[in-house]
Amino acid sequence: MHAKIFSATTVGIEAHGVEVEVDLSYGMLQFFIVGLPDTAIKESRQRIQTALKNSGIRLPERKITVNLAPADLKKEGTLFDLPIAIGILCAAKLVSLTPEFSSETLFIGELSLDGTIRSIKGALAIAFDAQTLGKKRLIVPKDNAHEAALIEQLEVIGVSSLVELIAYLRNETPIAPTQSAYQLPLHNENELDFSQVRGQHQAKRALQISAAGRHNILFIGPPGSGKTMLAKRLPTIMPPLSFQEVLETTKIYSISGKLAQQKLITQRPFRNPHHTISQAGLVGGGSFPQPGEISLTHHGILFLDELTEFKRTTLEVLRQPLENKTVCISRANHTITFPANFLLIVALNPCPCGFLGDTKRQCHCSKNAIEHYLAKLSGPLLDRIDLQINVASLDYDTLKNNDARALSSEQLFTGVQRALEAQQNRFGNSFTFNSSMTPNQIDQFCMLSPEAEQLVKQAFERLHLSMRGYHKILKVARTIADLEHAKQIQVAHVREAIMYRSLDQALEKMRS
Ligand SMILES: [Zn+2]
Repeated sequence: MHAKIFSATTVGIEAHGVEVEVDLSYGMLQFFIVGLPDTAIKESRQRIQTALKNSGIRLPERKITVNLAPADLKKEGTLFDLPIAIGILCAAKLVSLTPEFSSETLFIGELSLDGTIRSIKGALAIAFDAQTLGKKRLIVPKDNAHEAALIEQLEVIGVSSLVELIAYLRNETPIAPTQSAYQLPLHNENELDFSQVRGQHQAKRALQISAAGRHNILFIGPPGSGKTMLAKRLPTIMPPLSFQEVLETTKIYSISGKLAQQKLITQRPFRNPHHTISQAGLVGGGSFPQPGEISLTHHGILFLDELTEFKRTTLEVLRQPLENKTVCISRANHTITFPANFLLIVALNPCPCGFLGDTKRQCHCSKNAIEHYLAKLSGPLLDRIDLQINVASLDYDTLKNNDARALSSEQLFTGVQRALEAQQNRFGNSFTFNSSMTPNQIDQFCMLSPEAEQLVKQAFERLHLSMRGYHKILKVARTIADLEHAKQIQVAHVREAIMYRSLDQALEKMRS
């Protein structure tokens, strides 16, 4: 007596098919599973046997052998409980499936001892690849049905217990396929708004430029100047996630088991890991590699406050993801890639005590101490940051008075939209931004007026700019021009872009 059931598991963000073969042969009731790690097998056997018993199923006195193939695929145990249980029922002729139904259907789910079916990690990733695996139907834990139903043209059957599933497979009780309840968000559901931030006009302006051209940004300012408050509001001036982006981001949360029940990721993630975070926590890792903070921030904003407190080695690993928008995690015999397309905001105090340049409080740091402090900034990381902004501490009057000039998120977003349109026309798609222009594209698209050309030349010499620094000024100037739909980059655009190199200028002063 033999049965074969199809299941799948995730490796990185991809699904791989797994065949669950069950064989019943004469002999005492014994239960063998091959193809899983040893520790998982023991627990799996226990759960499956008890769940079947508590669902009113008496297993025949047979030797049960389960094989999970391919054997060389690394598998995590629990999501195979359900396919193994169904395989046993089929082999024992307690449930009979047509060959067509079997071959079209993927089963995934963890069993509890009482026979209820518990949610698993990665249901969306498996649903996403189900058609590639040649399947039309996915039988999943009910708590995972809403995420799996994001995938169109896949029949998603959500089940909450083994008893319910058996009745469905025996055609006794039908279960309607789960329909996706997802609707594209029309606007930002964020309660935060830039109108809540008093003063800080320059920082807000820089964030508008950042959102428009996807430029990474660095804030320098004393404690309490509102750097975190500003950073948190960046998502409110970015366009809502597209369906494709919702899918990609939700998939990562699904794989990490961080998808709260019945919730999809429909807003751009904003994450601010503490400076004590490990390298694996930040970029991903583990023996079954899990996405790190930078992947959980896919299509959103990663905010690293107190940048100089992070371990230098932790920051170094951000280099490659910032360049490629993905992160590769190498294991002995394979490499796993997770998406990591995020906008980076970093913040730091201007000196160890925090008050350098403050108008009201005195900085007592020595020149040496300040140099040592700033030297901790990773060069390669700084290279990926286009905008450097000084955020001053606010004085009492600004805090107390109602700030009539405080622009709202909606007002700032109008400019962003203009710039996004200009970039879409320029690059022919909505996935390329000014910040990722290649040197050739910079030559092609950053046309300067003669006066602007002259100003860039002066800055190049005065600030001892590297080629990279020079390109950054042009890219940022391009975005500033796009905010007002200007075809050609003018002097004012370049002048503003140069202003956003304040740290370079400070470091330069220190060296001379
Ligand atoms: Zn100081």
